Amino acid sequence: LPARFAGSVKSVWVEYIQLAQDFPSINLGQGFPDFGPPDHVTQGLKEVAEGENVLLHQYTRGFGHVRLVKAIGKLYSKLINREIDPMNEVLITAGAYEALYSTIVGHVDDGDEVIIIEPFFDCYEPMVKNAGGIAKFIPLRFKPKGEPTGHASDWTLDKDELSKLFNAKTKAIILNTPNNPFGKVFDMEELQFIADLCKKWNVLCISDEVYEWIVYKPHTHIRIATLPGMWERTITIGSAGKTFSVTGWKAGWAYGPSNLMKNLQIVHQNCVYCCATPIQEALAMAFEKEIEKFGTDDCYFFSLPKELETKRDYIVGMLKDVGMKPIIPDGGYFIVADYSPLESKADLSKETDKYKDYRFTKWMTKEIGVLAIPTTAFYNEANKPLAENLVRFCFMKKEDKLQKAGEVLRKWK
Ligand code: PMP
Ligand code: GLN
Repeated sequence: LPARFAGSVKSVWVEYIQLAQDFPSINLGQGFPDFGPPDHVTQGLKEVAEGENVLLHQYTRGFGHVRLVKAIGKLYSKLINREIDPMNEVLITAGAYEALYSTIVGHVDDGDEVIIIEPFFDCYEPMVKNAGGIAKFIPLRFKPKGEPTGHASDWTLDKDELSKLFNAKTKAIILNTPNNPFGKVFDMEELQFIADLCKKWNVLCISDEVYEWIVYKPHTHIRIATLPGMWERTITIGSAGKTFSVTGWKAGWAYGPSNLMKNLQIVHQNCVYCCATPIQEALAMAFEKEIEKFGTDDCYFFSLPKELETKRDYIVGMLKDVGMKPIIPDGGYFIVADYSPLESKADLSKETDKYKDYRFTKWMTKEIGVLAIPTTAFYNEANKPLAENLVRFCFMKKEDKLQKAGEVLRKWK
């Protein structure tokens, strides 16, 4: 194995998907819904499969099926208030994963520094290393702006700490809003601060916005590409899996100015080349339908967060009730909670993992029957101790599953 993969051998997803298989439990681990996508989305795929256009079962344009890049271009042109050229400023990828990969590998050179905000979606670090770059980390700190609210917004970037990370070697910063796993939605002041540093140091902003539609009131999703002077230095990443609740379709996209997108195209053409045509055609139809309904209650982009807010409130209450201390998310479909008040009731002696959150989640899966994800997976080695008391639950699940989890956890308490 090439040395650049050292330290990236273990993946929490590989390990915990196996754990779920080995110990059947209520799975609140990996992020995916246990219910179906909107009807029109599956109906579209059916129409593509059964339709007369047999060419939809063959390769399509490498940088993105034309009907899909046009639909995505149309939607985001409206959202960012700028005309996007779908043929040069949008790339369709194998999930947001590949969009991240093509962006990082296409821009980061040997020795370049990339700033990553912790907790971070775990693949950022290995991707930066794989590109020959050096990841520089900054954890969100518990520093409420006013009175603590109990929400993810109490966790903020220390401005001095962030400013000190930027230097002449900084190539990029990776922003993830709404953030996985905390569910922090960055506000205008925070984004403006990041944007000003990017402009000062001529740094690329890689903005992972896969949860852009899952934001709870009164918070709103702000696209950093819309801030003055940021379009020209931002690549924004999205995911069909998160947008339409079809994580198994593994389709994503990146958009940004054509000079920056060119580098992603080069990585993509030499690696994936072209994504699945039927999936892209079906997604194009799905986007077209949502664009028609945009702004109405029927539009999935607006109905989804409403539906999820009820689930969020339920799981917040449930976790508090069993004695954990949740950080209330303002976006996304994960909730992180401090389990330490319950630790004395768990016998972790049989588990051998280095970090306590791994030992606790494994014990909880095997003995209690609820699977959650250890949050040290979202920190670099040096900062893992910050997260040993925290675990992440996914609440994109049917109500009865969440209730069942509550019952099981209550019994243990
Ligand atoms: N970024 C974040 C923050 C994620 O949580 C995920 C998982 N959905 C991805 C990227 C990857 O998305 P996809 O499944 O579309 O590859
Ligand atoms: N984004 C999802 C999560 O955070 C899935 C991650 C994965 O399967 N690699 O749970």
